[in-house]
Amino acid sequence: MTAVQKAPDWLLDDGLAPDVDNDLLAPLYEGSARGELVLPFCGSCRRPLDLEQPVCDGCGSLERDWLAVEPVGTVHSATVMHRAEPGLVHADGPYPIVDVDLTSGHRLIMTTLEPTRIPPPIGAPVHVAFRFLGGVAIPAAQPTAPSETEATS
Ligand SMILES: [Zn+2]
Repeated sequence: MTAVQKAPDWLLDDGLAPDVDNDLLAPLYEGSARGELVLPFCGSCRRPLDLEQPVCDGCGSLERDWLAVEPVGTVHSATVMHRAEPGLVHADGPYPIVDVDLTSGHRLIMTTLEPTRIPPPIGAPVHVAFRFLGGVAIPAAQPTAPSETEATS
């Protein structure tokens, strides 16, 4: 195998990796592989669309354009998942699921980049980085250190 070996994902088994070529979200995964967060916009009015949204709420267009967006946002809500799936979920305890409001206007649900049992607080700034699951890059929230946010005096 010539591909660079990545450490196994902290949360999920590689068998759960998406089949990128046959996935509706292929543009997202292809962008993620380049380190870019690529999300759908209406091809007509440029409204941000949900990942699997086929029709634009604003203008009814069926056109979708996948564009790179700024990988930053804030925590809209967060929860802790307690359901264990032996063999599929590697985490040895509860793990966070975070709903992120991106500056692009999208909402994206993801877990955290690093294992933790404590989700980031609502309103916390996050950077979207990528986990690797079976070689597929997947968006993951990385709380932004307080020192990186602008101080208010
Ligand atoms: Zn539209």
